[in-house]
Amino acid sequence: MAQPHQHLHPATAVVSLGRPDPATSAELNPPISMSATFRSMGTPGGGEPVYARFGSPSWEPLENAVATLEGADLPGVAFASGMAAVAAVFGLVPVGGTMVVPRLAYNGSIGLARTLAAAGAVMLREIDPLDVDGSVAQFEGADLVWLESPTNPTLDVIELPRLLAAARELGVRTAVDNTFCTPLRQRPLELGADIVVHSATKFIAGHSDVLLGMVVASDAGLRERIQGYRTLHGAVPGAFEAWLALRGLRTLEIRLGRAEATAGVIAERLDGHPRVGRVRYPGLPSDPNHERARAQLQGFGAVISCEIDGDAAAAERFVAALRLITPATSLGGVESLAERRRRHPGEPADIPESLVRISIGIEHVEDLWNDIEQALARV
Ligand code: PLP
Repeated sequence: MAQPHQHLHPATAVVSLGRPDPATSAELNPPISMSATFRSMGTPGGGEPVYARFGSPSWEPLENAVATLEGADLPGVAFASGMAAVAAVFGLVPVGGTMVVPRLAYNGSIGLARTLAAAGAVMLREIDPLDVDGSVAQFEGADLVWLESPTNPTLDVIELPRLLAAARELGVRTAVDNTFCTPLRQRPLELGADIVVHSATKFIAGHSDVLLGMVVASDAGLRERIQGYRTLHGAVPGAFEAWLALRGLRTLEIRLGRAEATAGVIAERLDGHPRVGRVRYPGLPSDPNHERARAQLQGFGAVISCEIDGDAAAAERFVAALRLITPATSLGGVESLAERRRRHPGEPADIPESLVRISIGIEHVEDLWNDIEQALARV
């Protein structure tokens, strides 16, 4: 697979990475391999495909492309979903080992960590990563520090450089969920992380039609363990899903740029609306995360969380009244979605009942705002 140099602008890189090598193939796009097994003899391990649970030519273009965007020298490891990728990283913690996780982050990741702890598999230390000193005090002796920034759904920007540097000094392994930023807005490996994780279901694939996860590791030993986990647990992506995610990646830069510009306008208007309480969006100058976001991120993202003035029922009425924006979970697609997060029983009680997370898509800003305004009027 031809891999253009890492110095390409991201707008070019997303278009160029993961294409077949022109020296050996006339195809512009990588083919989809629908073989579960491959003609082969002798001991596996020479890089040739053997069996599609061990590795598939259909995954490699995407694995190479995302890893290059993340600034890694090694290919990524694609998974059947973001949660399968998270589970593989948690699987690095030995039985009885210690994991450090934020108290507030994507509820699936935290829920999995708590489930492992409840089963006696790991010890859990829960931190508030906004309290950097308090968090670092919990790192000593841990086997994994798990971080997510900005957080889902509170959109807090965590001080990754300080936290990752402190973990490194203590010799503690770190992993960062980079789903909300994508490598176009934040590259955690360059900030000192050992591992980056994505729900590629979201911005990378970008069309709400694929479930896919990705792990990018900074060193070969770690990568081998993550890949080994995938092989043994069978958490493999489908060939077509990997192909669709790479196709989605081609437009990531323009999708994210457009959605982000729109999100900035919508967040400001929500902030000034009488039926809306606190608006969480790192791009708002009034947001407590704004200065950190400016220092750390190459853009503020396309997800906004806001508290509808009133209770859970008021927030549900708002979501139900939307006509253009779809009432649905997930984020990062071309179409805007909104949901009251506490409708999920697993969402922590710290999340306000009336908090609605809006994933801004690529529709026209005025159509989106008109929809939000009319729905707010009917709360
Ligand atoms: N990480 C984050 C930040 C997420 O928002 C999600 C899903 O919402 C996941 C991981 C899990 O990804 P998936 O739904 O692809 O399993």
